[in-house]
Amino acid sequence: MTWAPLLRLQSALGGGAELVLVGGAVRDELLGRPHADWDLASRLLPEEVMKRARAAGLRVIPTGLQHGTVTVLLDEQPVEVTTFRSDGDYLDGRRPESVRLGVSLAEDLSRRDFTINAMALPVEGGDLVDPFDGRADLVAKVIRAVGDPLQRFAEDGLRPLRACRFAAQLGFEVDAATLAAIPQRLEVARKVAAERVFTELDKLLRAAEPQRGLALLAESGLLDLWLPELRPMLGCAQNRHHAYDVWEHTLRVVAAAPADAGLRWAALLHDVGKPGTRSVVEGHTHFYGHEARSLELTEAILERLKASQALRKDVVSLVKHHGVYPTEAWGDAACRRFLAKLAGDGLSLARWSAFSLADQQGKGMDWEGHQRAHGALMQRLEALVAQAPPLNVKALALDGSALMKLAGRPGGPWLGELQRRLLEAVLDEPEINTAERLSDLAVRLVVKI
Ligand code: ATP
Ligand code: MG
Repeated sequence: MTWAPLLRLQSALGGGAELVLVGGAVRDELLGRPHADWDLASRLLPEEVMKRARAAGLRVIPTGLQHGTVTVLLDEQPVEVTTFRSDGDYLDGRRPESVRLGVSLAEDLSRRDFTINAMALPVEGGDLVDPFDGRADLVAKVIRAVGDPLQRFAEDGLRPLRACRFAAQLGFEVDAATLAAIPQRLEVARKVAAERVFTELDKLLRAAEPQRGLALLAESGLLDLWLPELRPMLGCAQNRHHAYDVWEHTLRVVAAAPADAGLRWAALLHDVGKPGTRSVVEGHTHFYGHEARSLELTEAILERLKASQALRKDVVSLVKHHGVYPTEAWGDAACRRFLAKLAGDGLSLARWSAFSLADQQGKGMDWEGHQRAHGALMQRLEALVAQAPPLNVKALALDGSALMKLAGRPGGPWLGELQRRLLEAVLDEPEINTAERLSDLAVRLVVKI
């Protein structure tokens, strides 16, 4: 969307509406970044916005009247118009007890979290309204609380996490006083609902510089509130396969992974089981069984943060398979077994590959050499996939009822066992997956079950 439809809204609302673009949209306009939403604010009360917009033939939906918000459709695109408001008292560090509508624009801007989010741009033209020097902070690339950070972080415990998230998205520093206030307000941050925390962590991870946001979480102590299992990763030394400790490696893998939620969360959590499984034997460092431990912790962390089932499944599948890497020495049968395992967990080869590359890049060892070897491995695996070998029991040439008929037995546990053994044989030799050859084998196997 462009500015033109906003001008139509401005003329629909008429003079005195003081229609302004606010918050993240102004920040992103000034930075030349794309922005998903166009948040608008006006002096008019929501009922008046609805009345005037409807009179001008616009569609309006009362989406949040109690907060002063209505949604107007401009060229099918929803834009939110919120009445200038101030927040009432914050009693629990989570939400204001009440909001007061009909205040001045200056007061509305003063309730906002950071100076770069507290600017307004009049739609009908005119100067940027910037009472807290947000524009200077945009130029200096600084996230700075509006007003006293200790007070602002006491009001709403989510703000410290938002500071880290914006730093990661924009590649900015957090102003020293703002950052110093975070450790003093951890008890307020602790009370924030898991869903809100998850949304911010997810944005932080999918940002352009997630490693910057994660380092800020560790430095400020926010990490210990929501991801305490990650703390022992800091300074956890590794072995000759790695140039960095577990935490540093993790930050690099997160940054190297494509900016997709599943891949980034998996990158964050794939080695979380390492500190708890570390052992040193004759001078060599090992992490025996760390994948299983990482998997357990990953499930617990994502459940606690109330991540969606779909994301949990995706991340778990990536973490589960991150430790296996087919080498040239593997035969085709072993490679097919590997493909079958990925498919069994709903993980595509392309996703496994993307994650594996990021993991390797984060090790800081012979990256060029690894990329070449990985390319060759992927060619080989893709060639195997192209042959469409049977990778699960459903792909066997004989289905369950054919096998029951052949054995002359009703279904039972023996059937699953027979199918499993037939699949093993077919993974070794895909060419035996014909009704005739499989029948021979089934007859020989079934007497042993
Ligand atoms: P994005 O939409 O890109 O995530 P944004 O800055 O638009 O970033 P929103 O969460 O959409 O963030 O909020 C819109 C605006 O509302 C912010 O720019 C800020 O001015 C204000 N705001 C949002 N959350 C808070 C908060 N917890 N405390 C104070 N002000 C807030
Ligand atoms: Mg927004």
